[in-house]
Amino acid sequence: METISEYFMQFNDEMWPQRKMDVLEESFYQCEMCCKKNVPVDVYLRFICDETPPWMYHEDDLIVLCSDCHEDHINYLMECEEEVGK
Ligand SMILES: [Zn+2]
Repeated sequence: METISEYFMQFNDEMWPQRKMDVLEESFYQCEMCCKKNVPVDVYLRFICDETPPWMYHEDDLIVLCSDCHEDHINYLMECEEEVGK
């Protein structure tokens, strides 16, 4: 993996949407950070593991976030990536 954007390319895989829907249904479409409902939410990874494609993640390692919280989460992931890159 070179950049975080390359990593997110994996979400384009056809395996991901089904997995995502399952996780969203289990979470009742509620953001796990701010607990808002009735806002657009999506499924993200709590951390990045190069060897694991997103749909193979354990559900405990996936997180449902609204777009606001996702921005914070992306910043966090990018900080982690910088740490690793040092
Ligand atoms: Zn939120």
